[in-house]
Amino acid sequence: MAETAGTRDKETIGVVGAGTMGTGVAHLFAAAGHEVVLVDTAEAALEKSRGLIERNVAFYPLVDASLPRLDPAEVTGRIVFSTDHGDLKTSDFVVENVTEKRELKEELYPLLDEICPPHCVFGVNTSAVSITRLAGRTGRADRVIGTHVMNPAPLKPLVEVIRGTHTSAATVERTQALFRSAGRDSIVVNDAPGFVTNRVMMLTVNEAIFLLHEGVADSAADVDRLFKDCFGHRMGPLATADLIGLDTVLLSLEVIHDSLRDSKYRPCPLLTRLVDAGLHGVKTGRGFYAYD
Ligand code: NAD
Repeated sequence: MAETAGTRDKETIGVVGAGTMGTGVAHLFAAAGHEVVLVDTAEAALEKSRGLIERNVAFYPLVDASLPRLDPAEVTGRIVFSTDHGDLKTSDFVVENVTEKRELKEELYPLLDEICPPHCVFGVNTSAVSITRLAGRTGRADRVIGTHVMNPAPLKPLVEVIRGTHTSAATVERTQALFRSAGRDSIVVNDAPGFVTNRVMMLTVNEAIFLLHEGVADSAADVDRLFKDCFGHRMGPLATADLIGLDTVLLSLEVIHDSLRDSKYRPCPLLTRLVDAGLHGVKTGRGFYAYD
């Protein structure tokens, strides 16, 4: 099937999953003037997402003065919030951001393949799941690509784009053009568990949790301050883990661990304990730190 779309200035972007990432991705594209269809199976996630986008459209320009001041109602007015995957049928490009569970993503792709028009590209936003494997669940492996967007999406200038085994050059080009239309640059890497960023990041975060777990450091704040003040990092690894979501960190480590069968990615027991206790970081109000 020829790749015909991607020529219009404004496209319809399907965003699947309205959690931490889907909320940011929907915000990013709606703020850039695209029409967005945001789909989540949970009505509550969609409600929360609408509130967060309204708040963040007003708030982010205070954090980054280069961002335009937009009318929150106008931005959310470009987003259709829906629990029906069938509403993705008009999408030119889908960015999928559902929970980091391989089986869940594997079940979703045949459904997306059935619903979305043939020209639609599937961008997989995942921390570690294989793009090639998900592409194999569709009849359009050349139009499936990794779009690893960082958190919070409207504030991060760079996207890690992942080329699966069958991803076509045209799909790579189209994906980069779409992100450029939202003011985002991208770097293309090849498919491997955790890609470039999370192969390093998840290991670092997990090791920092081990240092707290083993009592090498007395507190999360001590670990983070060493990274901020000694190495000039903007955030320490434990605050970063809270921002990502400790549940997502654990799931990502499990995917990389399973994929590489390398014990260095085994999740720290303290991480598992925090997740079991429902302390998932910023999104639940408590993780290594407490949040309002
Ligand atoms: P999250 O847990 O905050 O949100 C996931 C959302 O997906 C939930 O609202 C859930 O209801 C929804 N969902 C689950 N199954 C669905 C389905 N079949 N259809 C529609 N919605 C469904 O997770 P998140 O942190 O937003 O992560 C989403 C993806 O992005 C993961 O693959 C993660 O690895 C990746 N990612 C996360 C970060 C981060 O910092 N959190 C950064 C980059 C990439």
